[in-house]
Amino acid sequence: MEYDSEFLEKRKLEGYLTPKAEVREIAGKGKGIIAIAPIKKGEIVSITGGVIIPVSEWENFRESYGDYAYFIEEEFLIAPLDPKNPTDEWRMNHCCEPNCGIKGQIVIVAIRDIEVGEELLYDYAMTEVDPNYEFNVVCHYSSCRKIITGNDWKKSELQEKYKGYFSLFIQEKIEKQK
Ligand SMILES: [Zn+2]
Repeated sequence: MEYDSEFLEKRKLEGYLTPKAEVREIAGKGKGIIAIAPIKKGEIVSITGGVIIPVSEWENFRESYGDYAYFIEEEFLIAPLDPKNPTDEWRMNHCCEPNCGIKGQIVIVAIRDIEVGEELLYDYAMTEVDPNYEFNVVCHYSSCRKIITGNDWKKSELQEKYKGYFSLFIQEKIEKQK
C-alpha cells in the first residue's frame, strides 16, 4: 500500500495551540513554544493534530517522521501531516521538569500556573512506550535523566510525579501493574 499525500490528507485531524502561546526560535534548541500570556494550571494549551498511524504501518513512516510522532494507544501513533513543516502544537520540547502534561491522549494541559515568557514543556515519558526509543536531552535540572527512553514510564518515581498526566493508555498500564 502506498501512502501518498492524498491518502494522508484524508486522514488529517486539525490541531490547536492556545492563543496564549506562540512558536519561537529558542537559543541552542531550535523551535519551541513560549507563553505570551499567563496560563492557569489545568488550562488546555494544545491539542495535537495530524494523522493517525497504526503501529503495524509505522515502519513505512519512521524514517521521514523521526521524532515527530508519539503513541496515543499501544497500537496507534499520531504524527504531523508534514514532518518537514509540522504545525505549531508539534513544537513542544521535552523537559525533565515539565510545566505541561497529557490529558487523555492528544490534549496537553498546564500542570501548574505558567508565566509569560516561560517555555511550554512536557516529558516525553508521558507518551513514549517504544522499548527501543532513546533520546538524549540536557535540561540543566539536577533531575535531568540525560537519556529519555521508551521504558521511563515504568520508573516508580515518574509514575508518582506524573500521576494523571501520562497518556491515558500508559496510565492504564501503570494501574494494571499495581
Ligand atoms: Zn532532562
